[in-house]
Amino acid sequence: MTVIVLGSGMSGLTAAGELTRLGHEVVVLDKGRSPGGRMATRAVGDRRFDHGAQHFSVRSEAFRDRVATWADEGWVSVWYQGQSVTQPDRGVEPRYVAPTGMSSLMAHLADGLDVRQSTTVRAVTTEAGGVTVDIGDATLTADAVIVTAPIPQSIALLSRSGVAMSDDDRATLGQIRYEPSLTVMATLDGPAGLADGHRALGGPVAWIADNRHKGVSTESTVTIQSSADYATRHFDSPPDAWSPELIETAQRHLASPIIDTIPHRWRYAQPAQVLDIGAVQIDADAPIVLAGEAFAGAKVEGAFLSGLAAAEIVASGT
Ligand SMILES: Cc1cc2nc3c(=O)[nH]c(=O)nc-3n(C[C@H](O)[C@H](O)[C@H](O)COP(=O)(O)OP(=O)(O)OC[C@H]3O[C@@H](n4cnc5c(N)ncnc54)[C@H](O)[C@@H]3O)c2cc1C
Repeated sequence: MTVIVLGSGMSGLTAAGELTRLGHEVVVLDKGRSPGGRMATRAVGDRRFDHGAQHFSVRSEAFRDRVATWADEGWVSVWYQGQSVTQPDRGVEPRYVAPTGMSSLMAHLADGLDVRQSTTVRAVTTEAGGVTVDIGDATLTADAVIVTAPIPQSIALLSRSGVAMSDDDRATLGQIRYEPSLTVMATLDGPAGLADGHRALGGPVAWIADNRHKGVSTESTVTIQSSADYATRHFDSPPDAWSPELIETAQRHLASPIIDTIPHRWRYAQPAQVLDIGAVQIDADAPIVLAGEAFAGAKVEGAFLSGLAAAEIVASGT
């Protein structure tokens, strides 16, 4: 069967890879310039920054097996051993990174797949058991589509497209809210001096990560990420209204002066609630499946598991 996957983040590329492995014909469409979605690395010359997901943990068997393969191939490695903030009873667990940047892992996952970047999906319509996807200057058709945008964006797309959703589905999915994040990518005039390459804080700054310590950057750079609460209060203000406070706060914990900064806003950083259902088919008759980390425990691992679940739903309909 033919499948269109909207999104080249972890959930979309996992679904696409699995369906391709099963022998289906898959096209991935993503509006961003390179694969990865929120697993993003920004490069400015030799200065590199992971400015979305910082690291990931591994809890399920399926993800453990996949991460072991990536580790054997050199795409990921353990950055440090850390205690879960949300589940302290789990004890200390490895935190994985892609040592050449999260986007390099995602480029590896995209390798060999038909992935079309800089392609915005404007509408998804269903007809005669299949789907038509409008990408502005063309339309594509397929037997099924997997939509992996953050849920509010997926619902808005389907609503704009006139796709019928049951009131129950609309109400359940509509409950899922995402927390924003404000990020500053900062270049330092010397070592960051953070123990284990990172510092978790309370207050406006939630997290500082040393990209050189991770191996992501040859130059000394850090990624400064705000708390969700701070981002919610300042999200709609221009960077001048919030980045100075984040920079000054972070500077107090760094061994060298910050000499250059790039601000970035994430409107849908992480879901505040999750629905642990893997992925969901919008309607028994409509070949539209919604996937993404909010359906499988959040974070990078949730995105991976949701991608597998979406592929299984689509493949089981063949
Ligand atoms: C600042 C920040 C810090 C984080 N830190 C961590 C962390 O430390 N550990 C962790 O495990 N997780 C972390 N996360 C969360 C993690 O990045 C996500 O859970 C995961 O990457 C989500 O993957 P996904 O494939 O579900 O969604 P995404 O990566 O968002 O992929 C969705 C894709 O859909 C595309 N898209 C959307 N609409 C359209 C359209 N209309 N047409 C075409 N393409 C479209 C987007 O461009 C995007 O590439 C963090 C996220 C952020 C933002």
